Amino acid sequence: MTTILRGNIIHAPALGRLETLERGYLVLEDGVIRGLYPALPAACRNAPVEDYGENLILQSFADMHLHAPQYAMVGMGMDLPLLDWLNTYTFPVEARYADLDYARRSYRKLAADLIARGTTRVAMFSTLHTDATLILMEELERAGVTGYVGKVNMDRNGGEKLQETTDESVAETLRWLEQCCFEHIKPILTPRFTPSCTDTLMEQLGRIAAERRLYVQSHLSENTGEMDWVGELCPDCGEYWETYAKHGLWKSHTIMAHCVHSSEREQRAMAEAGVLAVHCADSNVNILSGTAPVRQLLERGVRVALGSDVAGGAQLGMPQVITASIRASKVKCMETGMPFLTVPEGYYLGTTAGHRYFGAGEGFAAGDALHAVVVDESRFPEPARPLSLSERLERALYLMDDRDLRAVYSEGRKVLG
Ligand SMILES: [Zn+2]
Repeated sequence: MTTILRGNIIHAPALGRLETLERGYLVLEDGVIRGLYPALPAACRNAPVEDYGENLILQSFADMHLHAPQYAMVGMGMDLPLLDWLNTYTFPVEARYADLDYARRSYRKLAADLIARGTTRVAMFSTLHTDATLILMEELERAGVTGYVGKVNMDRNGGEKLQETTDESVAETLRWLEQCCFEHIKPILTPRFTPSCTDTLMEQLGRIAAERRLYVQSHLSENTGEMDWVGELCPDCGEYWETYAKHGLWKSHTIMAHCVHSSEREQRAMAEAGVLAVHCADSNVNILSGTAPVRQLLERGVRVALGSDVAGGAQLGMPQVITASIRASKVKCMETGMPFLTVPEGYYLGTTAGHRYFGAGEGFAAGDALHAVVVDESRFPEPARPLSLSERLERALYLMDDRDLRAVYSEGRKVLG
């Protein structure tokens, strides 16, 4: 069936490049983009038009790193660096997800809040609990979120309440994989980070990843204390990334969150393998990790996307994550002279860069299922002069929240509005 959206269309077909179409037409065939047109094509005359008037039609957002259970502690416990923060605040909260009623309530709220903020694709950590992970996947599917969710593996350094044996971790991962049967939410293997996983467990996960052709997500070079600890735990590895690489977990589509302190060699290893670096600017400042050299990663050919990293990050909304990334890059610029991220670059990293991980093209590309949001700017201050569409995008990214979204489309379906 042909459907048509009309409005002010702004998308990012390349890093740093915007394409805008004033009062243009986005033509869909069964939810899949056929094309963008300045005037309605004659062949579409009889198709229904969803006319959004002066509203902005933007790409929806992809949050490529967040911890679902930590949404319960968002906005709290920001006074400690990573390792103390995990032990003091995070692990006790994650242990709570053994309670499936609590997990259901918590994850239903998270899924609804993601869609309300225009995030339609995610790469997400659950906890080590298999059944709560399945509940998370079910709630995301129901709300219209798409992407990857991982049952977390951790067989060391989790304390009394948040740790599996190696055998349990493998057996529960297999049980979880058997029960994943969701249309839009797929499993991704998730060793929490090297300090949480023994070599034996990592080796087993590498084998499962190869046998079942699964992608992998984890953390890398977030914090200097963490990196020193990894060095002590894995004296045979010269650099952090090698603790994943030696078990077959370092490969195309592996997602590594943070990469704040990666050496040049580690950055080049990411580019060569096709590893995705996920920049989490708000989290990196909140828990005192540092400021990632995003410009340098991009120049060295590393694929980069953005993550909220809830709850190290305190903002679930990706417009806030995008603007936090721009601000962080300006701090880096003031410190080192490295060029900061522009608004079109931030928009690309928070949208297209993430969507491409899932096989999508650049921007609103023909052949892709539609992932889009419609922004109503009527709550914003009246401007002193008429604004261009690129100015309106900048203002929307800095000002918008869930109150300003008139509609959300995910995988070709209208899921809000
Ligand atoms: Zn994280």
